Amino acid sequence: MDLSYQDIKFLPGVGPKKADILAKELGIRSVDDLLHHYPFKYVDRSRFYYLHEISEEMPFIQVKGKILRFEKVGEGHNQRLTAVFTDGKETIELVWFKGVKWVLDKYKAGIEYVIFGKPSLFNGRFNIVHPEVEIASKLPPPEQMGLQPYYNTSEKMKSNFLNSKAIQKIIFPLLQNIKTGIPETLPAFVLQKFALLNLTESLVNVHFPKNADMLNKARQRLKFEELFYIQLNILRQTKWRDLNYRGFVFGQIGHYFNTFFKDHLPFELTNAQKRVLREIRIDVASGRQMNRLLQGDVGSGKTLVALMAMLMAVDNGFQACIMAPTEILATQHFVSIKEFLGDLGLEIALLTGSTRPKARAELHEKLQNGEMNILIGTHALIEDTVQFKNLGLVVIDEQHRFGVEQRSKLWKKNQNPPHILVMTATPIPRTLAMTLYGDLSVSVIDELPPGRKPIQTYHYYNSKRQGLNQFIAKQVQVGRQVYVVYPLINESEKSDLQDLETGFQYLCEVFPNFKISRVHGKLKAAEKEHEMQKFVNGETQIMVATTVIEVGVNVPNASVMVIESAQRFGLSQLHQLRGRVGRGAEQSFCILLTDFKLSSDTRKRMEIMVRTNDGFEISEADLQLRGPGDLEGTQQSGLPFELKIANLARDGKMLEIARNASMEILEDDPTLEKPQNRILAQQLRKMKTNAINWGSIS
Ligand code: ADP
Ligand code: MG
Repeated sequence: MDLSYQDIKFLPGVGPKKADILAKELGIRSVDDLLHHYPFKYVDRSRFYYLHEISEEMPFIQVKGKILRFEKVGEGHNQRLTAVFTDGKETIELVWFKGVKWVLDKYKAGIEYVIFGKPSLFNGRFNIVHPEVEIASKLPPPEQMGLQPYYNTSEKMKSNFLNSKAIQKIIFPLLQNIKTGIPETLPAFVLQKFALLNLTESLVNVHFPKNADMLNKARQRLKFEELFYIQLNILRQTKWRDLNYRGFVFGQIGHYFNTFFKDHLPFELTNAQKRVLREIRIDVASGRQMNRLLQGDVGSGKTLVALMAMLMAVDNGFQACIMAPTEILATQHFVSIKEFLGDLGLEIALLTGSTRPKARAELHEKLQNGEMNILIGTHALIEDTVQFKNLGLVVIDEQHRFGVEQRSKLWKKNQNPPHILVMTATPIPRTLAMTLYGDLSVSVIDELPPGRKPIQTYHYYNSKRQGLNQFIAKQVQVGRQVYVVYPLINESEKSDLQDLETGFQYLCEVFPNFKISRVHGKLKAAEKEHEMQKFVNGETQIMVATTVIEVGVNVPNASVMVIESAQRFGLSQLHQLRGRVGRGAEQSFCILLTDFKLSSDTRKRMEIMVRTNDGFEISEADLQLRGPGDLEGTQQSGLPFELKIANLARDGKMLEIARNASMEILEDDPTLEKPQNRILAQQLRKMKTNAINWGSIS
């Protein structure tokens, strides 16, 4: 019988109310969901300890003995219950802050118990708060207790008697009663090839490990399966796309590209830019639809590469567009592209939310009759009213700023999907790119244009503010400009983070002779634009801002980036902010300000920032520190799936193996019709999260 779809409310110990809570809190509805709700940790209960062995390092301790007496301490709200517990030689205090009456009813002095919990030091003595207490004779001997599973629960669950133990008690009989085994979800040849445990054994051992070795094997198998199906799903869709769509062929490098290259290029391309252009050139001439991610650090010259790719489209009779996440950025692109192109004689236009209806109508017409060659804009580009005659290439700048749907809309702007080039300065680690994008090709610009000096980064405590002020004054006096970035706009009672308004007042007092721009997300677009423009023109010397300036703004004369309460920002965000300086020929500086007291994670982040300017190193470190679910750049687009057991930061090797396995299978049987692959097709159909065609969107 296939248990998988059976509703959990019929299970012993569940019932409709608890089933409802499990569904709401953890999304567990079926038996299958439940069996794939894995423990998040295991605790070794295979031996008893004596109280004299206790040390502070022990996460848990398990002791056999008796309660000598109970005592209620304090009154009303502050009341707690303590019990003196002995292992026959020494004593320790057990403490309850809640459920006093329940504890007194349930536990008695003089009975032999096994207690289990985390020892903590209080007034120089160990105690155990809210220990697990069980009658010793009712427990199996410790060598059979082995590794005990612990399950994630929520407050709501706990208050409804669904703690970790309760979940264990629901799952245990379920697994015991499965006599004939749980239907296998991987084909036999895959299990064999990678020496994987079968599904039944894996589930039994992941919930109730026989020993550490079996637990390890079980986890390996389940991780493999998880990563394997994600890969198989994406790669199959990609295959499908390749079989069903032809890419536009940009067969020739023509007049516009060549003239631009010969007469308009103000500088030599870097070797990295040349290499990436060759990669793009091969793609667009191949007859396959290009789906390429261009990663390159801030200032590495991605815009120029995008422009030259767009010229390839124009040379072959196609239109091209580039979409940027903010109006400021789109405008900057427009201005710099216009300047680059000079008198080349191409029709280019800017389309944003503030484009006037009349100009818009004109523009729509030119797009439709094909007069317009290159369109630059914001989200306004994806509106349904924007119709191209023959869109051949779409460039998306700072792609992580756009949601999946926005990106997929561009993809539909031509009957046959255009070539897609997405650009990002937030490098995505390889494992994550593979998981998110399947066979998306990746190009990297790993070289900055010559003459740039690496930004020097320092981490200062707030106590050094005086010295910093002098430094800022000096920089401004020699003609440079300074950014100061804050995590908050206004003072907040809930935190002691620095805020923009207070900082602005402070800087006005410290530097009465300097002019200061102030930019944040609450300003109207026009005000923001105006304030930014003053800084861009050099009318103001200092710009205080929130992270609205994170993306793209180009002020080569700015040489100092001060980040207040830097602990508040993630690594990629810090790196992005730092990228606002170092764009001119002058030496630039990034100053990270924090309190003295920092968590070890924050300290690591600051150290990494000080140590390296390499965006890839930073994004790898980010992945390691925060885990992929949290990684900036993926939050907004969202990981399209939830990883239950695999971890992209740690299981990169496994991901590669799973990916190669899927590729090999698809190579041989692209539509998964062969009998040995039937399970695979079935499983893919079951996968819930494949509503979006990830392989094709990038
Ligand atoms: P990003 O990759 O961050 O988008 P940009 O495309 O904005 O970088 O380029 C940053 C600056 O470097 C621009 O002013 C651009 O004109 C300049 N630039 C681009 N390529 C080169 C090059 N090969 N040599 C010198 N300067 C370049
Ligand atoms: Mg850019």
